[in-house]
Amino acid sequence: MATMSKKIDGQFVVPGERLGVVEEFDAGTGTVDVNGTVYAAQTGKATLDPTRRKVMVKTLAGPPVVPEEGSAIIGMVEKIQEKMAIVNIIMIDNHKVERPFTGLLHISNSSPRYERAMGEVCKPVDLIRAKVIDVSARIPKLTTSGRGLGVIKAYCSNCGGELVLSGNILRCSQCRNVERRRLADDFLGNTEPEKA
Ligand SMILES: [Zn+2]
Repeated sequence: MATMSKKIDGQFVVPGERLGVVEEFDAGTGTVDVNGTVYAAQTGKATLDPTRRKVMVKTLAGPPVVPEEGSAIIGMVEKIQEKMAIVNIIMIDNHKVERPFTGLLHISNSSPRYERAMGEVCKPVDLIRAKVIDVSARIPKLTTSGRGLGVIKAYCSNCGGELVLSGNILRCSQCRNVERRRLADDFLGNTEPEKA
């Protein structure tokens, strides 16, 4: 039994491939138990968890994810200029990017309102949710103007503490510094209860 377990661990498997029997291990994520036999339910790498006696099949990273027009991305603001933010794209359409690459957010695409300075939209280290609007240039152009788009996590420029919403006021949870951002409507900051 143990020899079979060793053999399957780390193997590349395809759906329907026999991994073993339930006497050896339970069917975990990416596998299926059919009458006591465990099969791979997806393509990927079989992984044994000996402590929990469980076998899983983990999907391998597919072809590199590249942003297309309309892709939803999550990025970390790397730096800002007066009219522009440079964003490290870390997720594209819910897929983690292996090596982050750069996107550009211009102030004219940052908000439905007229913003004067990028510092009122986002600041370095903030996490933003954006959409790709143009991939014709070497660096994809982003927008945060739209439903669900904008800053989803923000940090105090004074002390680095996490910013939280208190009513309409965005305030540092540590030093109480008040800041401005273009927040996504489902801003993830630990929202303090809104006063009626
Ligand atoms: Zn602070």
